[in-house]
Amino acid sequence: MKQGIVYLIGAGPGDPGLITVRGLDCLRRADAVVYDYLANPALLSEAPAAEQIYVGKTRGYHHRPQDEINALLAELAGQGKVVARLKGGDPYLFGRGGEEALYLHRQGVAFEVVPGVTAGFAAAAYAGIPLTHRDFTTSLGLVTGHEDPAKKFSSLDWEKLATGVGTLVFYMGMANLELIARELIAHGRSPLTPVAVVRWATTPRQQTLTGTLADIAARVRETGFKPPAVIIVGEVVTLREKLRWFDNRPLFGRRVLVTRSVEQGGRFTELLAAAGAEALSCPVLEVLPAADPAPLDAALANLSATDLLILTSANAVEHFIARLRAAGRDLRALAGVEIAVVGPKTGEALAAHGLVADLVPADFRAEGVLELLRERGVTGQRILYPRAELARELLATELAALGAEVDAPIAYRTRPPQQGAERLREALAAGIDAVTFTSSSTVDNLLAMAGEGAPELLANVTIVSIGPLTTATARRHGLTVHVEAASSTLEGMVAAMIDYFAKHPGEKGLKEKF
Ligand code: SAH
Repeated sequence: MKQGIVYLIGAGPGDPGLITVRGLDCLRRADAVVYDYLANPALLSEAPAAEQIYVGKTRGYHHRPQDEINALLAELAGQGKVVARLKGGDPYLFGRGGEEALYLHRQGVAFEVVPGVTAGFAAAAYAGIPLTHRDFTTSLGLVTGHEDPAKKFSSLDWEKLATGVGTLVFYMGMANLELIARELIAHGRSPLTPVAVVRWATTPRQQTLTGTLADIAARVRETGFKPPAVIIVGEVVTLREKLRWFDNRPLFGRRVLVTRSVEQGGRFTELLAAAGAEALSCPVLEVLPAADPAPLDAALANLSATDLLILTSANAVEHFIARLRAAGRDLRALAGVEIAVVGPKTGEALAAHGLVADLVPADFRAEGVLELLRERGVTGQRILYPRAELARELLATELAALGAEVDAPIAYRTRPPQQGAERLREALAAGIDAVTFTSSSTVDNLLAMAGEGAPELLANVTIVSIGPLTTATARRHGLTVHVEAASSTLEGMVAAMIDYFAKHPGEKGLKEKF
């Protein structure tokens, strides 16, 4: 039997990008994942085939006693499994990692420890607070603000903490904040010492409240600021004014619905995240090959007699090439065929297959392609235009009117995903700031999926459209379009949103405040 092992892995503070390379590697190799409340659940998708066991704890409410967790780890490893024990932040900091490792040691179970980015370090970095800076402090203390309930809280040596250490970071301290501030002042720390509390650090929900030892507890009470949060005490907190970078990005705090298909949504999500937005992926269409591939196959068989191939989307590129491959042929079949694309993104999709477009219009729309071809003249040319099932007729009919022989077989179709409606309604009900429409079919499908209550659900939401055609479709459905991209690309959409929200700061979304 395979030798079992337990990896005690620090999952980091929340942003899934903050797990270490080694942690991710161990997680991907795991047969079983045992995880906690604060570890970002998104990391679980890295171990899709593994058995996933939740043993999370929230303060005052223990799902599973520690003994049981210890026994579970040993039992899984005893079955020869590779066990990833994912713990929030760093496994050895206030996380009972030490207890788990000692138990495994006693049981003779092999284990290794992968350190993680602890919440205090991460909160400081993302709030713009260097924990040490030689102008302010040269030492740092990490302190629990919620000791083992069996012990008395006062077992902390307040006098030494208050005066002997520079920066202090309290974990699990929100319930005791008033006491912490009082004790530090009582034992010699200035009441004017700056304090920051940072909650949900490194996630799109991150919030920071600043004050002094004298007033921070009152400020937390007034704003209803809740855990999980770390409390950072020390002069370095003042550096935040200059060094904050995470929560002042232009779309920070905005929750944005991405309606593109799963395959195409990824890049948009990245662009939005880079601007600070929380992108919720809720695809309202899935892309499938043509129901009847015969017309496309016939066109492919006729490629040698084709003069020009027009591709108007990355989907068209992928489905055209997939069908060519399915017919047992390769890209040499396109030798001698000129290729026109609708815009740079379609050109990139083509380039990913090693093909270079001959014609790219300046205006990224079907009209642009048409204009280009009108100037060149297409009389007598044999044009192949593999298209979407519901594509506009414009291109095919106009090119035919210009004297071309146009074949426009269906290459792909889109439809609302079978299981998406529930997810969509949940997302809308949870409160979002903006919905993004990247094509007319995303509008049609979203409204069909959201059902009767759609107009009310969208009433307070900023509607963002990629361009005039999508805007027209949205208006036909009675929606108000607030933002239309000046250039019909995903980058253009993000730029237009940044611009819009800068002018309309308003309420940051419908979500809970603090
Ligand atoms: N092992 C963890 C700490 C576990 S104790 C680590 O190294 O980070 C749990 C405490 O960590 C919480 O009460 C809170 O103080 C802090 N914490 C964890 N994640 C946090 C986050 N994303 N933002 C702010 N504080 C967090």
